[in-house]
Amino acid sequence: MNILKDLNFNHKKTLIRVDYNVPLNNEFQVTDNTRILAARPTIEKILNDGGSVILMSHLGRPKNKEEKFSLRHIIAELEKVMKQKINFVDDCIGDKVAKAVAGLNDGEILLLENLRYYPEEKKGDENFAKALAELGADYYINDAFGTAHRAHASTSVIARFFDKKHKAAGKLLEKEIHSIRKALDEGQKPVTAIIGGAKVSSKIGVIENLINKVDNLIIVGGMAFTFLKALGNNIGNSIVEDDKLELARRIIKEAKENGVSLILPVDLVIADKFSNDAQTKIVDALNIPDGWQGLDIGPETQKLIDQVIQNSKTIIWNGPAGVFEFDKFATGTEQIGLSIGRASENGAFSLVGGGDSVAAVKKLGLTDKISYISTGGGALLEMLEGKTLPGIAALSE
Ligand code: AMP
Repeated sequence: MNILKDLNFNHKKTLIRVDYNVPLNNEFQVTDNTRILAARPTIEKILNDGGSVILMSHLGRPKNKEEKFSLRHIIAELEKVMKQKINFVDDCIGDKVAKAVAGLNDGEILLLENLRYYPEEKKGDENFAKALAELGADYYINDAFGTAHRAHASTSVIARFFDKKHKAAGKLLEKEIHSIRKALDEGQKPVTAIIGGAKVSSKIGVIENLINKVDNLIIVGGMAFTFLKALGNNIGNSIVEDDKLELARRIIKEAKENGVSLILPVDLVIADKFSNDAQTKIVDALNIPDGWQGLDIGPETQKLIDQVIQNSKTIIWNGPAGVFEFDKFATGTEQIGLSIGRASENGAFSLVGGGDSVAAVKKLGLTDKISYISTGGGALLEMLEGKTLPGIAALSE
């Protein structure tokens, strides 16, 4: 797979698949420009080489050509970030777009309209991919890590229409792959993964892959209750997946056989209802009274996790430790963020990904301390599962 530094873009037109699926407020202003910033180094490299750039992305999940999902809304923010004028064309395939591409001068940027205005995009339609490939670009670059796990027309199928010398991974994609490999396959020991979130079922693949790679696997959040129940604990009314109890037992056994230390909550913040104004108590994890549910990890668990994290050289974190949307139950998640921040300051390599964990890290002002914050949700999970993502594979085929 080529990376950007293998290629020279002087006088060339380059079509870049970026992930500009950014949140907008009611006035259609960008409220978080992380993804726009993340793709900037790739665009800059091509412009600095003396080439021009055509940007394509999806935004949201439009049913038809709904105006609220127009990429027009991000022009102002993109101009601010790139410090230059952005040309825009209100379609992404066809003569009008090809003409705009033909008229593009070196140093210029052209933004295309939302790819998902065409249902063919998500279907991975070959003709649609071909139409994108035939807009007149010399190179195809994929820098959309957030959608690299999808075999969509613009993320994967399009790569068939560019030979190996005319396609490459963008800088963001390269950095994501490098960081995930550094943590997962080349991580300095001890390696610790902290996996949280609501359900085991959404992270089975991740847990099963990690169990062969890490020294410590910490399971927190709602999914911990399936494990606690599998061990015979009374979990009261906590969230549980009864059809995954057998799986949890198998994972516990596998961890033992692999010499992996599987760490579950030892105490919990329990609540009498799922609400920020619930009554709460701290109890040990063995016995949650009926009618009560665990909504965060307790102080002893936070201490235990902190010890493990401080003794780790590599740390991977995905998923909250509690219902952090309610302030009352956000402490566990925040403490994990702070622990990882401290360990990173002391030289550990840390990789944090997933919307909730990243939000916690940002809220705590820890962004600069964490070694790498992934821009991927589903894509990161699939990488952690050990899968080859179609958007990445297509660049080497
Ligand atoms: P996920 O999308 O799988 O990473 O799950 C994130 C969600 O898990 C968040 O919305 C949390 O509120 C939720 N969650 C975390 N801990 C618990 C818990 N103990 N009980 C119920 N939901 C939880």
